[in-house]
Amino acid sequence: MNSFTHCTDVRLKERLLRPENLERLDNAIEASIAGMVLFGLVGRLSRLHLGAISSGYHPVDSCLEYLASEGKETDIPQSVDELFHAVREQVDSFLGVEDIPDPTIEYSTKTHTWITGGLSGAFASLAFADGISDADQGMRLLAAGCFATLSYLSHQKLDRPHYTGLTQTIRIPKRPLTRTELRAAVCHEYVHHVQNHVGILEHRHEIFSEGLATGAELSIAFHYGGVRDKTYSVVMQAGLLSHARTWAHASPHMRWRYDSPHALGTALFAIEERRHDSEVYRRALTGDIFKD
Ligand SMILES: [Zn+2]
Repeated sequence: MNSFTHCTDVRLKERLLRPENLERLDNAIEASIAGMVLFGLVGRLSRLHLGAISSGYHPVDSCLEYLASEGKETDIPQSVDELFHAVREQVDSFLGVEDIPDPTIEYSTKTHTWITGGLSGAFASLAFADGISDADQGMRLLAAGCFATLSYLSHQKLDRPHYTGLTQTIRIPKRPLTRTELRAAVCHEYVHHVQNHVGILEHRHEIFSEGLATGAELSIAFHYGGVRDKTYSVVMQAGLLSHARTWAHASPHMRWRYDSPHALGTALFAIEERRHDSEVYRRALTGDIFKD
C-alpha cells in the first residue's frame, strides 16, 4: 500500500480543506443543483409538498407515494444474481478491469429499509426545505442535501449493504427495494470487491475507498442507468456534496459531528472527476490520483 500513503484519511481531509478545493466543491454543488433542476425535481417536489400540507399528510408519506407513482418498476429482478451480472459488466468496463473472481452474494432478510429510507428522506427533506420561505433556492437545496445525507447515513448504519474483504462476500439486506436501489447497492459493494482484488481496500483509507465506491456507484447510475437511476444519482450526489461542505465549513473542533467517509470521499472524487473526467476512477485503482 506504499503508493497510497497520500490517500490516508488524514491527508485527504487536508486536501479537501484547501481553498481551491473548497471553491471546486461549491462549483460541483452548483452543478449538482443544476442537474436537479434539469430533472425537474424541484418543481415536482414543491407541488408535492403543497399537496402534503393541504391534505395534512406527512411529507415522508407523500414522498413515498411520489416514488411509487413516478417510479413504477415492473422489472424488479427475481434474484440479485441476475442483477449482479448486468451491474458487474458496467463496473468492469467503467473501471477498466477484467477477470475479477466472483464474490459470494448473500441476500438475507432483515427489516430496516436504509436505502428506501435514505432516498425517501432525500425527497422528503427537499420538500421540507422547500417550505423555508426566506432562504434562496441554493440555500434551500443545500439544507435539503444535508438532511438527505444525514437520513441516508443514519439509515445506512442500521443495517446496510456491505462488503467483507476476508470472505469476499457482498451482503445485501433483503427488503422491498426497487431495481434502482438494489442496483446502486450491488454496484457500490462490487466496487469494494474490485478494490479488494487490486489490493487497495484498507481501513485507514476509508475516505478513499468509500469515495471511490460511492463516486463510481453514482457515476455508473448516471451514465448507464435509466431516468430513475439518473435521478437517484443526482439527488444523492447533491446530498453528499452538501454534507461534505457542511463538514468543511464547520469550526475545526466541531467537524467530527459531520465526519463521513462517504460524503468526504464523494466530494474529493467529484472534484477530481470535474477537473479531469471519469478516467479518475480507473487511475485511482493504481493510486494515480490526489497527487498534486
Ligand atoms: Zn462502501
